[in-house]
Amino acid sequence: MQFDNTYSNLPEHFFERTRPVPVTKPTLICCNNDLFETLNLKLNLNDSEKVAEIFSGNIVLDGSDPIALAYAGHQFGHFVPQLGDGRAVLLGEVLDSNKLRWDVQLKGSGPTPFSRNGDGRAALGPVIREYILSESMNALGVSTTRSLVAVLTGESVIRETSEPGAILTRIASCHVRVGTFQYYLAKNDINSIKLLADYAINRLYPDLRKTKNPYLELLKQICHRQACLIASWMNVGFIHGVMNTDNMAISGETIDYGPCAFLDNYNSDAVFSSIDSAGRYSFGNQAKIAQWNLARLAECFLPLLDPDEKKAIALAMDVIEAFYKIYNDSYLGVMRQKFGFLSNNLKDKSIIDEFLDLMQRYGVDYTLTMRKLCGVVTELSDITEISTMFSKSIEFDDWIRRWRNRLRLETVNSNEITQAMMNVNPIFIPRNHLIEKVIQSAVNDHEFQLFHDLLSVLVNPYKDNENFQSFKSPPKANEIVNQTYCGT
Ligand code: AMP
Ligand code: MG
Repeated sequence: MQFDNTYSNLPEHFFERTRPVPVTKPTLICCNNDLFETLNLKLNLNDSEKVAEIFSGNIVLDGSDPIALAYAGHQFGHFVPQLGDGRAVLLGEVLDSNKLRWDVQLKGSGPTPFSRNGDGRAALGPVIREYILSESMNALGVSTTRSLVAVLTGESVIRETSEPGAILTRIASCHVRVGTFQYYLAKNDINSIKLLADYAINRLYPDLRKTKNPYLELLKQICHRQACLIASWMNVGFIHGVMNTDNMAISGETIDYGPCAFLDNYNSDAVFSSIDSAGRYSFGNQAKIAQWNLARLAECFLPLLDPDEKKAIALAMDVIEAFYKIYNDSYLGVMRQKFGFLSNNLKDKSIIDEFLDLMQRYGVDYTLTMRKLCGVVTELSDITEISTMFSKSIEFDDWIRRWRNRLRLETVNSNEITQAMMNVNPIFIPRNHLIEKVIQSAVNDHEFQLFHDLLSVLVNPYKDNENFQSFKSPPKANEIVNQTYCGT
């Protein structure tokens, strides 16, 4: 692996140099061969012992310059001036064959100067959850950090009970968070905010260097990417669960999979995270929270936007206010595709909203229902099955009539509409109850077959797979998972 590190060239107060703490007996759980190839990483993956030694941090490769990044953050609305990588180390950066730069980070690699009272470790359950969720999100076309390797440490970690320890190797286009900027604002260190903004521009948004006010454009771009990201979460039914400002990457990638979950039944009020009792981060609240987080970022940017504070505030306000327009356009765009609307029509939004409302009121499964809708585009198709899900109600009949009328405005034929819908409405999503089964099987029985099986269908979410029909189904009553835990 050839490292080419840039973050560790920033001033020393941006990070702490720290080494992964060796573990007793690292063993490989999973290695993402495709991602190794994409990243142009030339390691002999057949030597699984060596791979486990490297991605547990027992061996630190030449060129790696391990650091823990400093950051702050608003957690559930409360500002914490110092968080930082308390259980992660950035091994370094690599360039893929397109010269794109990627962070390679170990998560669960032992205490760092930012660990506060934590053990710096990760339990197997959350590592499995992050691996599966991030790879599934990527396959669903959602911008996300990726999972390269998962290893068992051979050691236990103490959470509510004693659990097997594990380490995830995470790949991100950059680990700078909203909270990284906040860290310097809290210290009134404007020079560091500027350095960080310059770093972000050079690394993620190099075209902005040519613009008149690069910092303003940077803020706009970050807001744009976040707006599109949240739209794509809403499209697939993903709930992040802990949208703290330290868990929001300025690259627009989904980051820090904690107590996250996918909707089964469509429900805009859904909350799974055990620590979110007030529903701050509920499914339907995610756009609002993203905008709130971005307003915190804008506060950090004020000194860079204009020397006149009033003018700077006005500029920042415009950007934050524009968030909803970008979000709404992006959301409507992806939802149009989901409903087979290949062109734009003024009625689209109300037709879509009415169906979401119907799904919520009848408590039907979001993914399954949308996939079934792909098969009933024309009057000739049998709607008995889907209509039964809506208790054969008149309001459902009425809706489907109006939806089909709208589809007639399309210039392509119904087969093409069906096909287009099937390309964006997945069959397989990482359902909570399946993740739970995978974790139980790994933790209790040291059995990873279910993990590999589930992963194999999730990386091809639109393609049916005869061998794994049960992975399509929503949970039975006794399988429903109502709460998810971050397990930190
Ligand atoms: P998270 O909830 O994973 O976003 O983490 C919030 C903060 O707590 C970050 O600063 C983490 O580095 C830190 N943290 C979480 N788990 C641990 C742990 N087991 N040991 C040390 N720090 C941790
Ligand atoms: Mg975090």
